Amino acid sequence: MSESIHVDVAVLGGGPGGYTAAFRAADLGLSVCLIESSETLGGVCVNEGCIPSKTILHATSMITEAQHAQSMGVSFGKVEVDIAAMRSHKVATVEGLTSGIDKLAKARGIQRIKGTGVFKTKRSLQVTGDRGTSVVNYDHAIIATGSQPIDLPGMPKHQRIWDSTDALDLTSIPSRLLIIGGGIIGLEMAQVYASLGSNITIVESAEQLVPAADKDVIQPLQKSIKKRYDILTRTKVVDMVVEDDGVVVTMEGKKIKGNQTFDAVLVAVGRRPNTTTINLGALDISLDSNHRIPVDDTMQTSLPGIYAIGDIVEGPMLAHKATHEGKVAAEAIAGIRMSTKPTLIPSVAYTSPEIAWVGLTEKEAKEQAIEYDLGKVPWLVSGRAQSVGASNGMTKALFDKKTGVLLGASICGENAGELIHEAVIAMTLGSRAKDIAHTVHAHPTLSETFAFAAELVEGSMTDMLPPRKR
Ligand code: NAD
Repeated sequence: MSESIHVDVAVLGGGPGGYTAAFRAADLGLSVCLIESSETLGGVCVNEGCIPSKTILHATSMITEAQHAQSMGVSFGKVEVDIAAMRSHKVATVEGLTSGIDKLAKARGIQRIKGTGVFKTKRSLQVTGDRGTSVVNYDHAIIATGSQPIDLPGMPKHQRIWDSTDALDLTSIPSRLLIIGGGIIGLEMAQVYASLGSNITIVESAEQLVPAADKDVIQPLQKSIKKRYDILTRTKVVDMVVEDDGVVVTMEGKKIKGNQTFDAVLVAVGRRPNTTTINLGALDISLDSNHRIPVDDTMQTSLPGIYAIGDIVEGPMLAHKATHEGKVAAEAIAGIRMSTKPTLIPSVAYTSPEIAWVGLTEKEAKEQAIEYDLGKVPWLVSGRAQSVGASNGMTKALFDKKTGVLLGASICGENAGELIHEAVIAMTLGSRAKDIAHTVHAHPTLSETFAFAAELVEGSMTDMLPPRKR
């Protein structure tokens, strides 16, 4: 079948960025076509990323919680794990969400085309799918093609060598699992497989895990995992050979002695944008040195009417960044001026404890010679943290030295991924330390630690001695 249609907006890619952009454009009264090659909408996030990983992380965190509960006087006996049931629960969760997204797309009257889209001219896309080729003519296009895992050079293709999608399939629980990359995916998957009984080795080329975060912020996590995992920082994998009894890995680093054999290897060294197979040449759009599409603050590319969002443009590869950018692009097309503010995008590692940060980290402030006041609160001073066994956490907030305005915050501890939004809102509103310190926080809560950080900067916090003036 071959058909040709015309729409106000063509969206290429049905991940969180793409479907959000399509939905917003439709809600603003525009005719929309959403092109996606997979059977389901939702992209990596819903189908094989954020949602399945959070489902499995939650399930496996109950194993560790049940073990820790003993110290609080609660015993469950031996915890039994049914991997097949865990996998089914994950699949059902994903299916529930994708079918919901599908229904919302239909209800909004969005034309959905299943197939692979490639730009044909500046105002048309050719889509090839199971049902033949279609041409989508548009006035505006939003490119939202996402990213894919980076492979290591010379890495063999084998069922023992996984990317994050393979790891989330839960097909086997390797006794010895090597994770290459101590970033967010590496640490989240380490937690899943350690809870299921794997011995974990993490190899990280940088000098610390989660290199984007401040070193002191990750300490609560580092302390909690260093006895459970073998962590090799400033180390690189230089060779992997698959043999009958496992993958023989050669590494280079300070603590390395000889080769080591693992039952499986997860490669989690970052992702690369999907920008090279959509014929951007037809649009005369050039990529930057990281293969990303340059855009302005309304997400418009160098070609008027063409927008790009999500993992294919500058910034962290995060679903919530993509969804925000999708709304900005759709609104710009509808004539509503909204712009992106990259400093206001929070990052969260859903580890135990969680790590979350927004805005400037302390190391960035130092690199950029920005003068700041620091409020750093160990959760030992929090009554709530003590009661729930979370006193290893920490909250840290940076304020502009002259104006007192919040520049950034980092939290490591239970629920850090939820708590960070207090800082995100405060930053969005341009709050100062005194505004936050004077905001009444319920007691006992972990949120109080953010107000404590502001109080410290203001000079007096009840449960800690005043800091020495810097
Ligand atoms: P990442 O950038 O978070 O971490 C990759 C890590 O691998 C880095 O620490 C890097 O220093 C290290 N590394 C790179 N090359 C290496 C090598 N050859 N040997 C050893 N270490 C090496 O990337 P990721 O964990 O793969 O995640 C990919 C993207 O997906 C990231 O942008 C991440 O933010 C996003 N993501 C987010 C979430 C979340 O929001 N919770 C979850 C999963 C993934």
